[in-house]
Amino acid sequence: MDNLPDNLAVSALDQLADGVVIAEADNPPGILYANRAWEAMTGFTLEAVRGRTPCPLDPDNAHAGPERLRRELAAGGTGRAEFTDRRQDGSPLRVACSASPIRDASGAVTHYILVYRDLAEEAEASTRIRQLEALVRIQAELAAGDHDLERLRQRVVEIALELTGAEGAAMEEVREDALVYRAVAGIATDQAGLEVPIQGSLTGLAYSSEESLLVEDTATDHRLSSELRELVQKVGFRSGILVPLTYEGRPWGVLKVYARQPGHFGKAECRLLELASGALAASLHRVQDHAEERDRRGLLLDAVPALIAYIDADQRYREVNAAYRERFGVEGDELRGRSVLEFVGQEAYDRVRPYLEAALAGERVSYEDDIPLPDGTTRTLHGDYLPHRDARGRVRGLYAIVRDITDHRDAKIDYLTGLLNRREFEAQGGRLLSVAQRYQHDLVLVMGDIDHFKAVNDDLGHLVGDTVLQGVANTLRADLRAADLAGRWGGEEFVLVLPETSAEEAFKLVERLRGTIGAQEFVPGRPITMSFGLAAAGPGDSLHSLQARADEALYRAKHGGRNRVEGDGADLEELD
Ligand code: GH3
Ligand code: MG
Ligand code: MG
Repeated sequence: MDNLPDNLAVSALDQLADGVVIAEADNPPGILYANRAWEAMTGFTLEAVRGRTPCPLDPDNAHAGPERLRRELAAGGTGRAEFTDRRQDGSPLRVACSASPIRDASGAVTHYILVYRDLAEEAEASTRIRQLEALVRIQAELAAGDHDLERLRQRVVEIALELTGAEGAAMEEVREDALVYRAVAGIATDQAGLEVPIQGSLTGLAYSSEESLLVEDTATDHRLSSELRELVQKVGFRSGILVPLTYEGRPWGVLKVYARQPGHFGKAECRLLELASGALAASLHRVQDHAEERDRRGLLLDAVPALIAYIDADQRYREVNAAYRERFGVEGDELRGRSVLEFVGQEAYDRVRPYLEAALAGERVSYEDDIPLPDGTTRTLHGDYLPHRDARGRVRGLYAIVRDITDHRDAKIDYLTGLLNRREFEAQGGRLLSVAQRYQHDLVLVMGDIDHFKAVNDDLGHLVGDTVLQGVANTLRADLRAADLAGRWGGEEFVLVLPETSAEEAFKLVERLRGTIGAQEFVPGRPITMSFGLAAAGPGDSLHSLQARADEALYRAKHGGRNRVEGDGADLEELD
């Protein structure tokens, strides 16, 4: 160390962030050297203090910190203390100081080295870190997306209070020509609903100018009208920060934090609240837009007499319309979040579960079924379940549109296609079959299924799909004889009963139908084909057994490449 040039050691000391002072160990000690950091910290130059006694080493300094530091030094070790020094301009400077003795070869103390750390700066840095953490937390909390506007407002004022160390916080929103305390925290808690005129108030000024205000002292602030001084006193607003909440040019209101003492807030808190306000306003708007959207949709859904429910992927109710609430005697949001199973009960759930699962797998489902309801009655319900997909195509839930058709149980016609519905088809078909069997006449049952119909729905939408179903039904109706029956079995499956018709005749007739359907353009540029399965009635047949055989034949038609007709028995096989 001895061969180091002196100026090198000095410039090394000048690189330090801590203040360093070297004093000669006279009685009292005198300053020999102070580095740049110490000069910057205190505002003194070395020239101005050379020879003076550093304040913690001054025997006349009776403050507790310096006294302890001197005691520790006198005991031969390093003295440490925190105390308040004065800057050159007289302002207080809170420091942590350590002083170490330097001894010569004989062990006598020749110098002291004092190291100063500015505690205010340290405190400020840790405050900033705390505030940054708070900002990040707010962003995360708001992004988590609570959709309740009241709760969000409350969170906003609580966060503002916490961020700025204020005593009171209020979210003021415009109503006519006043700003109203909508959410309150801290000492503002009792002031909910308070109205402050826009004209003449500081909040009003922040609102109209769309600029934040740092208010040092309302007692002397000339921007505040004299009529409002009393009000300001009543709420305990002496100093504060007022930040307008605007989002994409739409003003929302003003966020105010305040305290009962003057000058409680600095520029840093003001800046921080401005930073946070962007995120806060964006969330408020998002939630309000969401609420408006829901109200609009709710209004529309409530006007529809059908029972409508939105059920999420976990099979929980998210929304139900007025008809639904009325039918099941529930109020308001009572159903939101409850599971279908829990609400309808195990028995009803077992009936609708396959439909729910199919819809949640992405299929559009139509059913008509007798469902035992929670109130103990069994009702005939017609349900349409429409899968709901998000932008990425994942099924997020389903819309259930349910009609109670118990009172129209004698309805005979499928509402979409105008063909016989399944129940009526079974009734009439059964009668025709028993007549044919009694007189040993021919009768053929035909099942028809549209090929790749799912792709039509997927590519063109369900409404176009419905048009295709209607087109197919019209073609069937037009091509059949008066004595023939045509029904919609469900979905895109149709069923025909052809009395007085041999297998051979039926085959020809259905081949012709297949051709007609394939040649039509229900949707321009998108040919539709159908596959058919035939079964000729024998003496022991029931409508069910006949259907089962026609279904098997249909299955073979599908597996044989679609757009074709297959028969069940040997006699029909020969015709192929
Ligand atoms: P395949 O050739 O094997 O018969 O294929 P597919 O796609 O026709 O058969 P699948 O049974 O997989 O799909 C039938 C589709 O019919 C699924 C369902 O969304 C749709 N569907 C059922 N009922 C209706 C309805 O009333 N309207 C509309 N637009 N689509 C329906
Ligand atoms: Mg099909
Ligand atoms: Mg099908």
